[in-house]
Amino acid sequence: MLKKIDHLGIAVHSIAEARHFYETVLGLTCEKEEKVTSQKVRTAFFSLGETHIELLEPTSDDSPIAKFLENRGEGVHHVAYRCTDVEKQLSRAKEHGCLLIHEIPIIGAGSKQVAFLHPKSSHGVLTEFCSGEQQ
Ligand code: ZN
Repeated sequence: MLKKIDHLGIAVHSIAEARHFYETVLGLTCEKEEKVTSQKVRTAFFSLGETHIELLEPTSDDSPIAKFLENRGEGVHHVAYRCTDVEKQLSRAKEHGCLLIHEIPIIGAGSKQVAFLHPKSSHGVLTEFCSGEQQ
């Protein structure tokens, strides 16, 4: 079951530069920066009520975020839904014919279980399922 929108992922060239907008202009506080080796990105999380903004900066040229920036420039990269059971959510999507990027969940930022659906299956929006707090 989906619980809420956990976060919005936003692709940026540089977290160091983008922080100015989120911290100074919007007045949000950066909770943590983290390098996620499995996805070749550095992330920065900002809290906003029940949800978060996740800035994503590529750590190498073959990072999926580097490719996204090359093709589309900076902007909204994905919508992440918090679920009670990521694997169940994935099999449900698969049953309904969705293309999955991850057949089984991987470990993402904050040591959460995460898995992505292909945007072709979700009307152009890269969709992430993630588990709750660290487990
Ligand atoms: Zn995410």
